[in-house]
Amino acid sequence: METTLFTAPLSDAEYDSAAEIIRSGGLLGIPTETVYGLGANALDPEATLHIFEAKGRPQDNPLIIHIPDESWLPRYCHDIPPAAYALARAFWPGPLTMILPRRDNVPLRTTGGLETVGVRCPNHPVTLEIIRRAGVPIAAPSGNTSGRPSPTTAGHMIEDMWGKIDGIVDGGPCGVGVESTIIDLTGTPPRLLRPGGLPLEALEAVLGEVAVDKAVVAKLADGERPKAPGMKYRHYAPKAPVTVVTGDPARSAAYIQSHLSPQSGVICFHECTSLFRGHIVHDLGPARDKAEQARHVFDALRAFDETDVPDIWAQCPDSSGLGLAVGNRLKKAAGFHVIEV
Ligand code: AMP
Ligand code: MG
Repeated sequence: METTLFTAPLSDAEYDSAAEIIRSGGLLGIPTETVYGLGANALDPEATLHIFEAKGRPQDNPLIIHIPDESWLPRYCHDIPPAAYALARAFWPGPLTMILPRRDNVPLRTTGGLETVGVRCPNHPVTLEIIRRAGVPIAAPSGNTSGRPSPTTAGHMIEDMWGKIDGIVDGGPCGVGVESTIIDLTGTPPRLLRPGGLPLEALEAVLGEVAVDKAVVAKLADGERPKAPGMKYRHYAPKAPVTVVTGDPARSAAYIQSHLSPQSGVICFHECTSLFRGHIVHDLGPARDKAEQARHVFDALRAFDETDVPDIWAQCPDSSGLGLAVGNRLKKAAGFHVIEV
């Protein structure tokens, strides 16, 4: 298939062509502030089937639908609690997905067979304009091939999807770099299903008590089902095993130094890179700058796909603020093989 590349800023005619790809049932790579998405008309089960096929995504793993503002919520959801509007006012457009009861016009194909739907309003002007012109919500999971790290640049999207989809919109590198935070509003108290670009503390400031799903912090036992079906899948399955080391940065660096082999790969804080000369090292960002770490975590993981390292050691931030999401992505890549020092 021929893939069209659209590069921001898009002309009026390019916006129309991109929207037409969505309206006619095609697949379009779209930029958001979190990661790049693989988008299709959320209301068209044929179109969303193609998302699962292009990614090799299991069909029980539901898609998030993207809308341009909160006024679209009642079109696709019912029994919307006041908390949903409070969150939308506080954090949309932004990296927050809400789980709500779905209306019948959202196909079960899109929701992975669930009676609920995940809805988000992304903070990217190009994608918001494409959704408005298409006139339908865009279902979009992360635009990677299943099992690879999420794409945070159009280049990553091109690596995974060129020739397989109708178009890719290059809207620049993603400002957040990890996926959206997912909050389930169908029960009491609201439940965090996936940590992401909006910190748990920000949700608590609006909602009060928030329960944290077990899948966020630990590996589930065989047969255990997380409430967000996607949390049971490993994001990234490197040939080499990953070990995550948590704790004070000086101590975790010392631990890695004394355990790594000469060929080991390392993901570490900026301040520690010089300790690992001679190794393939990916800089996660300064130890105190979790927003920078969020922007780098998938790129660091993806880069090891090109190498033959026998194992990978990763430093990990503490779990306050964005650290919960950065640590979750690293720990998932490690199959929750974590050492606390
Ligand atoms: P991705 O699009 O790759 O960020 O994956 C979307 C994530 O949202 C997956 O972990 C899904 O399991 C989760 N998700 C989407 N819709 C729902 C829903 N209705 N209920 C629970 N989790 C959902
Ligand atoms: Mg994904």
